[in-house]
Amino acid sequence: MDKNNNSHIKRKKFKAGEVIFREGDLRDDAFIIETGSVEIIRGYETDSPTSVAILKEGDLFGEMALIEPGLRSASVIAKEDMITYIISSSVLEDRLQGLDPIVMSIFSRLIEGYRFARIEKDQTGITFNKFLSDNYDRVSNIAALGNFSDRKNDALKELALEQEIRRALDHNHFKPYLQPIVSLADRKIIGFETLIRWHHPERGLIMPDEFIPVAERMGLIQAIDRKMLEMACDVIPKMYEAVQGKNMPFISVNLSGVNFEDDSMVAGISDVLKAAAVNPASIKLEITESAFIGNSDKAAKILEGLKELGVTIALDDFGVGYSSLGYLHKFAIDGIKIDKSFTKRARDNSRGMDIVEAIVNLAKTFDLGVIAEGIETQEDVEALTKIGCIEGQGYLFGKPLTVEEALSKLLH
Ligand code: C2E
Ligand code: CA
Ligand code: CA
Repeated sequence: MDKNNNSHIKRKKFKAGEVIFREGDLRDDAFIIETGSVEIIRGYETDSPTSVAILKEGDLFGEMALIEPGLRSASVIAKEDMITYIISSSVLEDRLQGLDPIVMSIFSRLIEGYRFARIEKDQTGITFNKFLSDNYDRVSNIAALGNFSDRKNDALKELALEQEIRRALDHNHFKPYLQPIVSLADRKIIGFETLIRWHHPERGLIMPDEFIPVAERMGLIQAIDRKMLEMACDVIPKMYEAVQGKNMPFISVNLSGVNFEDDSMVAGISDVLKAAAVNPASIKLEITESAFIGNSDKAAKILEGLKELGVTIALDDFGVGYSSLGYLHKFAIDGIKIDKSFTKRARDNSRGMDIVEAIVNLAKTFDLGVIAEGIETQEDVEALTKIGCIEGQGYLFGKPLTVEEALSKLLH
């Protein structure tokens, strides 16, 4: 669960008139303009400089560095005080790992074609670098593959959000909220699910759906999940004191599937649990099936490793993704959570209820616990109880609460 430094995108400021790189320099990084503009010039510092292009916010330059080593084909000068993001080849490589394999394959094919074209051009006597700069607009249009300006804005937004997520991590702006999980028969609290909230100094409260997917793409989710686990561990002694050691509720923590790509994940979690000196039995890790796609044997081993730490494991959002019966016996899980969309379907029609009943029966066959999510009405409780579901979570019992609110709710 270590922060992956390869994927860390740095920023750099340049003053108006400053040379960002010179024609003939060895290529290293590519740049994306955060603010300001640059001019691309061939023959800069010669008698006949030629301006090739002016690039603005969101534009990419120096990208040949990411394709193959070589020399810069033009110089790039800051036209005003400006800031760029620096995209190194290790950043690119790291992020390519997370790409959809189809996109990845198309991308690799395009790069190959690009290199091939260079060799062809060299053989016909025109250097590819000259060809590129003579045809700068055309080449960048070809590369755009669709609506590039939208994509540019998306990239800029995502880069800005990434910087903000890093700041939020450093300044502890992520807070755990706790939603009660109850026993349906008597509504007694048996546990809490930790749900992240971002207390943004300017934008106020930000919900996880707005930043978790970006954090996953950027390789920041490991640090976020680790922090949430640490904060959940901090709550445990307070809860223990509140209940005076009797019927200690468990605390569940969400663990993104991205963590499973990291070989040091189990050791990282073990470190957190040891440092906090909590009883691991109080911790439940919620994992979605996405963690199991790809190398499922490896995922199974990681789960075994987690179980050995003494924590319990719940399969989150059951039924939503790739659910397959095969998973249930292959992976060392203790229970499943029925996604709120199924609870809603069960509320809406009897066929929906049949599906939930089938899931509950399936879980029983494999000796797994079941927690139904998204319980909003008393009718939900009655219907779920009838089909043998005994634990649940939802607005009917309580919204996600601050730690203080959760502790006081536990006492009442
Ligand atoms: P999830 O794990 O399925 O969490 C349950 C979501 O359902 C939460 O949304 C919760 O507030 C919401 N919910 C609870 N009861 C009800 C109900 O009765 N009705 C309805 N309509 N919704 C209910 P939230 O807090 O917005 O979290 C969204 C998702 O973000 C979570 O879904 C989880 O996948 C992810 N997430 C949250 N915290 C973390 C975290 O620390 N790490 C990671 N990796 N993911 C997190
Ligand atoms: Ca969850
Ligand atoms: Ca869920």
